[in-house]
Amino acid sequence: MGLKKVKALGLCSGGLDSILAALVLRRQGIYVQWVAFETPFFSAEKAQNTASKNNIPLIVKDITDRYIPMLKNPRCGYGQGMNPCLDCHALMFRIAGEMMAETGSDFIFSGEVLGQRPMSQTKSGMRYVEKHSGYDGYILRPLSARCLPETRIEKEGLVDRELLYGLTGRSRKPQIALAEEFGVAHYPAPAGGCLLTDKGYASRLKDFLAHQADWTRADLELLKHGRHLRVNASVKLIVGRNQADNEAILAYYRQESDVLIRMASHPGPVGLIPHGAPEETVRWAASVCAGYSKAPAGQSAELTAHAPDGGQRIQVAPIPNEQVQPLMIP
Ligand code: SF4
Repeated sequence: MGLKKVKALGLCSGGLDSILAALVLRRQGIYVQWVAFETPFFSAEKAQNTASKNNIPLIVKDITDRYIPMLKNPRCGYGQGMNPCLDCHALMFRIAGEMMAETGSDFIFSGEVLGQRPMSQTKSGMRYVEKHSGYDGYILRPLSARCLPETRIEKEGLVDRELLYGLTGRSRKPQIALAEEFGVAHYPAPAGGCLLTDKGYASRLKDFLAHQADWTRADLELLKHGRHLRVNASVKLIVGRNQADNEAILAYYRQESDVLIRMASHPGPVGLIPHGAPEETVRWAASVCAGYSKAPAGQSAELTAHAPDGGQRIQVAPIPNEQVQPLMIP
């Protein structure tokens, strides 16, 4: 009977570092597979492309339900936007750790490189993540392992530390050299793609979390589209800026709870009041939408408003854009 093959489950971002970390382990005869997580803030698309190009099995898992409670109150706070990178990593390692049993994995790993990014890739950041993941001792960073304290995984001989790397710092040169050594010719541009680091999305998300205790996926998706105006503590108006916004608003409109406003007399934006509003607020919202339409200033415009209890036609005078500017969530 042969020795049991060591198995490892890696967090995959889809970038070059993920690929190299997996190949470094594979070269030691370790069976590697990946997991990539999805929420409305980041997708697994890049990881899916990378996995199929490099022939590495990938599990994609939506973690939104567990992500939001963490996002509302991250222990270590946020980066420049609403990105709770340290607690995000800790949660991802926690969920990957929980998946070790079902995937038959002996440990989990990532392509993180010490000192490559502020916050989560410092020595103390990496240590924080290990401690708060619940899987301290089961996490390996093959690209920087030789600069980090020896892990239980190495001590127990599951991995040969001598065959791991000690990369540090922001330079990409060592990774590019390693990619050549491994014959990796195609890989996506590094990082990017997390909406929580986007200032505009972050301020809309912050406003949303401050005003609404519950969330639906549509609420989070709608934060990506249109102008958002905070009318009062319980009412927000979303107005499309272009065709793509209008289509997205229509796609996420929920007939059973929202008010949908559309221009009838002139071309113009689609407006949405998620979770509804009183009649006079709907009229006011229609005037705002008309202000962003092709209706000439000073003339009345006709719109339709569909609320859960029925539709109506509304005649309003357009409100000039400047007047509603102070309500805009940047
Ligand atoms: S950038 Fe986004 S996905 Fe990446 S660690 Fe930070 S919060 Fe998580």
